[in-house]
Amino acid sequence: MKIKYEEFKGEFVKNCPCSPEAVSCGYYNMNLHKGCPFSCTYCILQSYLDSKDPVFYTNISQAREELRKAGKNLKNIRISTGELSDSLAYENESNYSEIIIKIMHEFPEIVFEFKTKSANVENLLSIKPLKNIVVSWSLNPEEIIKIEEHNTASLPERLDAMAKVQEAGYKVGIHFDPIIITDNWKKEYRELVENISNIVVPGNIAWWSLGALRFPEELKEHIFKYKDSKLFTGELIKGYDSKYRYFKPLRKELFLFVRDEIYKKISPSPPLYLCMEDNEMWNDIFPNLDPDPDLINKYLYDSAMK
Ligand code: SF4
Repeated sequence: MKIKYEEFKGEFVKNCPCSPEAVSCGYYNMNLHKGCPFSCTYCILQSYLDSKDPVFYTNISQAREELRKAGKNLKNIRISTGELSDSLAYENESNYSEIIIKIMHEFPEIVFEFKTKSANVENLLSIKPLKNIVVSWSLNPEEIIKIEEHNTASLPERLDAMAKVQEAGYKVGIHFDPIIITDNWKKEYRELVENISNIVVPGNIAWWSLGALRFPEELKEHIFKYKDSKLFTGELIKGYDSKYRYFKPLRKELFLFVRDEIYKKISPSPPLYLCMEDNEMWNDIFPNLDPDPDLINKYLYDSAMK
C-alpha cells in the first residue's frame, strides 16, 4: 500500500486512553502515523480506523514542540507511536525511525518506545542507539501468531530482530498482549518464555507488559471473518468497560502462570506490569507493587533508563 503524507490537524502527544477503572501505567502516545499492514484478529484498529491505508504526518516540528511542552510540565514521560499503527511496519518505505531518533536526541529525559510485530530493524541498526530509546515486540506463541496475527513477522523473525537490536545496544521491551487461551496455552507460553530466555539478557529489558485478550462488541464481525481464530476458546464475559474479556479467575490464572514462568526462566525481578487491569488484579499478581499510576510509570521509566 502506498503511503500518503499529509498534515495532522490535532494534538500529537496524548495520554494513553487506558480503560475506566483500570490502573493506568502513565503512558503517552504520539501518533506520527496511522494505518497498519497487518491483520490481527483481535486488533481494535480493524474497527476503529476507517481505512488501513498508511498515512504519515508531515508536521513533525509540531510534534517536537509538543514534546518540548510536555517535557517542561511532566516528569518521566514514556511515549510511543504504536497506538494507531505499528511503529516499524513501514520501515522499508519510510525513514521515520531515523526522524524519531533525531527528535529524541533533543529530549534525553523522555523515553521513546518503538512497538512492533515486524522484523524491520535494519534502519535502527544503522543508527547509533540512544539511552532513551526502547525497541519492543509484541510476542505470542508461533501457533497463535499463525492463526491470529496475519501478515506479521513470525516468532523466530521477531526474536532474531530482537537479538540484533539488543546486540546493537538498544534496550528491549516485551509485550505479552494479548495473552490468548488455546487448548495448549500453558505449554505454548512456557515455550515462548523459554525461547525468549535464550535471547534476551534480563538487564536489557526495559519493561514487559502482560495483558489478557479483550475486544469491544464491534470487533466481533471482524473476528468472525477468521474461521480458524481461537479468540472464543476461553470463557469470555463483557466487562466494566463493555469489552469482552476472559472471566476474572481465568485472567488471574493466566497472569500467575506467565509471571511465574518469567520469574523462573528470565529473572526473579523483571520489570513486569499489567495492561488494563484493575487494582484487585494488580494486588493479586504483583503484591509488592503499589498500583499507583505515578509509581508504576516511575518504576518502568527508571528501568528503561538504568
Ligand atoms: S495500562 Fe495499557 S492501556 Fe493503560 S495506560 Fe498503560 S499501556 Fe495504556
